[in-house]
Amino acid sequence: PYTGPSAAEILQKRKEFLSPSLFCLYKKPLNVVDGKMQYLFDDTGRRYLDAFGGIAVVCAGHCHPDVVEAIVNQTKKIQHSTVMYLNNCIADFAEALAAKMPGDLKVVFFTNSGTEANELAMMIARLYSGCQDVISIRNAYHGNAAGTMGATAQSIWKFNVVQTGVHHAVNPDQYRGAFGSDGEMYAKDVQDLIDYGTSGRVGGFISEAIQGVGGIMELAPGYLPAVYSSIKKAGGVTIADEVQCGFARTGDFWGFEAHGVVPDIVTMAKGIGNGIPLGAVVTTPEIAQVLTQRSYFNTFGGNPLCTSAGHAVLKVIEKEKLQENARDVGSYLKDRLHVLQDKYEIIGDVRGRGLMLGVELVTDRDLKTPAKAETLHIMDQMKEMGVLIGKGGFHGNVFRITPPLCFTKEDADYLVDVMDVIMAKM
Ligand code: PMP
Repeated sequence: PYTGPSAAEILQKRKEFLSPSLFCLYKKPLNVVDGKMQYLFDDTGRRYLDAFGGIAVVCAGHCHPDVVEAIVNQTKKIQHSTVMYLNNCIADFAEALAAKMPGDLKVVFFTNSGTEANELAMMIARLYSGCQDVISIRNAYHGNAAGTMGATAQSIWKFNVVQTGVHHAVNPDQYRGAFGSDGEMYAKDVQDLIDYGTSGRVGGFISEAIQGVGGIMELAPGYLPAVYSSIKKAGGVTIADEVQCGFARTGDFWGFEAHGVVPDIVTMAKGIGNGIPLGAVVTTPEIAQVLTQRSYFNTFGGNPLCTSAGHAVLKVIEKEKLQENARDVGSYLKDRLHVLQDKYEIIGDVRGRGLMLGVELVTDRDLKTPAKAETLHIMDQMKEMGVLIGKGGFHGNVFRITPPLCFTKEDADYLVDVMDVIMAKM
């Protein structure tokens, strides 16, 4: 049993010694002390079904034994920077990752986070194209450093500091957007930004295939092919931010696959290290050359421990057929959520792919008024009944269901049943 400090003591220390901007998901914060596959355990030993962990860390499942073993073994051998010396971990993982990429995408740069990966991707795009202007989509989240905060496009995540060189295109939002699911209509806005907001040439375009923080918004079909074509004509580089939707989560290995495009640069992080800080940027040999213009290095990017973890995650995804599982369990769960939508007016929209699903709550289906308080209430009640889900969207009224990829149909049933019981009581 857990013998550490109580939740109240931890909360007190957090208030005194940690960032005042930190937030907790629940009214009564959860003290998580153990994790095993799709379950988390609190300080009283109570088990929770974790249907949100995937977003933060977990592809293979909490403390997956293969990943733990890889990490522990590597820590005992050598843990160092891989900048100055040779080491097989980084080389082997880069080779395995390249094998997962389409086209000529085969050169990997490792970082320690998603923000760093996107910062590097945007810099590469700017250097390669010789243009500063980058286009991102409203409602996106790409990071919180100087460049990426510029690309992030929700006021809640943007501080009032200089963020130059990014234009924000209309979100191809199929639920609220003016053009419904007509991706090509939204894509015209990107062409307009190029024509009226820049010299006619751009550095690049960055987007998620499914916006995660933005509330599991799938870009309207037809949007990315049209935008990629506009960007190419304007001399720009296309960047797919796969930090949330990559690594088998959507049932495809990469989120962009469903859109029939091949980006020039792909970035990834979060689940790829199964909880170990690891990010990556993959591009073509030709584009990668721009980084030889000056010295570029990252002390811990691609260190032996993190790349061993990442490589172990890739192997587990293959061994346990987690991509297929994400597709099967995801579509089963989505069907069940649609049935719930027929039953409860409050569910305005059910969307997403694989194990990256969103449920948008509204108090009025026609007006699509965000049901913010209700979202918090249901999340809290679900936690009380042993199920953890996340929330997102600009108004905080979208459930984000992004479990570890080992999630089963029984887990999906339990999640929906719990949601059903709570909604029935409201
Ligand atoms: N891109 C996307 C799509 C993200 O969701 C996030 C994190 N929410 C990031 C980038 C930034 O990743 P990190 O927090 O690891 O810097």
